[in-house]
Amino acid sequence: MKFLLFLFLFVGCCEQDNLNSKIEHSKSDTFFQYASKEDLLVGNFEGNLLIGGLKEKGDFGIGTINNIDGEMLILDNNFYSIKSSGDVISLEDSVKIPYANVKFFDADTVFSLKNNMRLTKLHSYLSNVIPANKIAAVKVEGSFKYIKSRSIDSQTKPYPPLSKVIEEQTVFEFETTEGTIVGFYIPEYLEGLNFPGYHFHFLKKDLSGGGHLLDCVVDSVNISLDYTSKLEFDLELTN
Ligand SMILES: [Zn+2]
Repeated sequence: MKFLLFLFLFVGCCEQDNLNSKIEHSKSDTFFQYASKEDLLVGNFEGNLLIGGLKEKGDFGIGTINNIDGEMLILDNNFYSIKSSGDVISLEDSVKIPYANVKFFDADTVFSLKNNMRLTKLHSYLSNVIPANKIAAVKVEGSFKYIKSRSIDSQTKPYPPLSKVIEEQTVFEFETTEGTIVGFYIPEYLEGLNFPGYHFHFLKKDLSGGGHLLDCVVDSVNISLDYTSKLEFDLELTN
């Protein structure tokens, strides 16, 4: 009888473990988006989601901070903002955001590339690899001959539309630098909710700069792709 009781407890314990690992797995392969493209375009720059909450949805991604106070980049569960001053700061859990695209990064394929291709060439190169109907988290890590990026000044209410904000962007240029491009490929059918195509941010390896990627010339990089067709949207700002 004692033996049977022990067996029962043991089986019960395993079922619990299986349940936990299933939850962990479904969490790890879902693309999460906070707010819609429209929110960002019309100037809905104040969200309620905390960095602490966003950490439950992914450890890799891009976005921005309330008042558009910098370009957000998330890499290896480190949450950064690249400010218009060029400074890179770590974000506290209490910081609020109006827009983000994140995922728990778990590469499905990794390959290296040595080629002086510019950003538009890199897009078409990736499009030959990535299935057009899948979302892909894209990580491009290594050395670059050139990087052109931007960030944006913190905005005050009444917020202007994004197009006006971008007119005032601060542009950065880096020659011969190391770092990581972080972002996503978004399929055409998500037009309306997100920006179809590629949206990349960049962070220098020594954390001395980065921003929303405008152009680049690749030198020697490793490209990691993580595909998913599971989506979660939190559209609380859209009204
Ligand atoms: Zn961006």
